[in-house]
Amino acid sequence: METTLHNITAAGPALIDRVETFLVDLPTIRPHQLSMATMNGQTLMLVRLYCSDGSIGVGEGTTIGGLAYGAESPEGMKLAIDTYFAPLLLGADASQIPAIMARLNKAICDNRFAKCAIETALFDALGQRTGLPVSQLLGGRSRESLPIAWTLASGDTAKDIDEAERMLAQRRHNIFKLKIGRREVDADVAHVAAIKKALGDRGAVRVDVNMAWSELEAQRGLAGLVDAGCELVEQPVASPQALARLKGRHAIAIMADESLTGPASAFALARIGGADVFAIKIEQSGGLRAAQQVAAIGDAAGIELYGGTMLEGAIGTIASAHAFATFRELQWGTELFGPLLLTEEILAEPLQYQDFQLAIPHRPGLGITLDEERLQYFRRDRKQGATVTAVRPAKLAG
Ligand SMILES: [Mg+2]
Repeated sequence: METTLHNITAAGPALIDRVETFLVDLPTIRPHQLSMATMNGQTLMLVRLYCSDGSIGVGEGTTIGGLAYGAESPEGMKLAIDTYFAPLLLGADASQIPAIMARLNKAICDNRFAKCAIETALFDALGQRTGLPVSQLLGGRSRESLPIAWTLASGDTAKDIDEAERMLAQRRHNIFKLKIGRREVDADVAHVAAIKKALGDRGAVRVDVNMAWSELEAQRGLAGLVDAGCELVEQPVASPQALARLKGRHAIAIMADESLTGPASAFALARIGGADVFAIKIEQSGGLRAAQQVAAIGDAAGIELYGGTMLEGAIGTIASAHAFATFRELQWGTELFGPLLLTEEILAEPLQYQDFQLAIPHRPGLGITLDEERLQYFRRDRKQGATVTAVRPAKLAG
């Protein structure tokens, strides 16, 4: 059911009546190769919060390559929410988002991705309740659309150049991020140089090493990348201290990604001068407001900002877009291309990607409508029927 303002009763608290979680498996348009995993599909963990005023909020949790990227998986998020989050959510006033998140943070360690999915659903429901888009609820927008980089990660130089040419011709992307770190440093640098040479001034080229290099490999790699015309390198090494030692030694921006796991890590990185740029992700940060806090720390420290992706589907992507729209600065744009990597559309109306930008909707909440039939079709549990995972006991109703 699409929730509109018409079926939401005015005034009074909106209590969380029901928490529903399910997994949706979607194929990718091509294998997506990162240093730590090759993805052939993406699993979305979707959560819906049903509130007593009729509002329904949806949130999403995804990971990159199952457990290859971090300690949370879609299956684990579902289990954590069903078992540990739901009892803390049922009966709570859904409009008091900071209070709910504080309650979750006190009772549940880490689990940032799952917390982000819940906070997204709370903001979506609050948007339905108030008629405001999530970006407005987060303080208002600095911009109406976001530049979107595309990631070239087929593993093949010629295929990557073809793909980049198609994106330029369609005016969909003119910033390209290359996933490297699986091969020898020199082979990777040659791959980057060939792509930059083919694109010339028509496309910016950046790389993501996903922590695959040692500090010594990074010294050699960064020198080669500068010569290749690459403007930015994302998380070349794992350690924040090594990032700090590398920063400023080569004429290339160093961006922290995996090292950023929320506001405390952002503060620690800023303190040691560990990055020129922060890649901010709502899931890695632990939610939309936490992502704003990471941005504020970056601003205060003179660190430039970039909107990152956990390869979320449409829900997590547009939630990220609402958060990134509120940032004061967004010097390096974003990479919110997640839905474009998937073969299947799960929205009634696809997100609007055009002229190298993603438009941010103005409708209430996240501003999207799910295609329920398609969602049902791709649900992992579709053969067992829908599972309602947690219901508020009758004694709490009211
Ligand atoms: Mg990255």
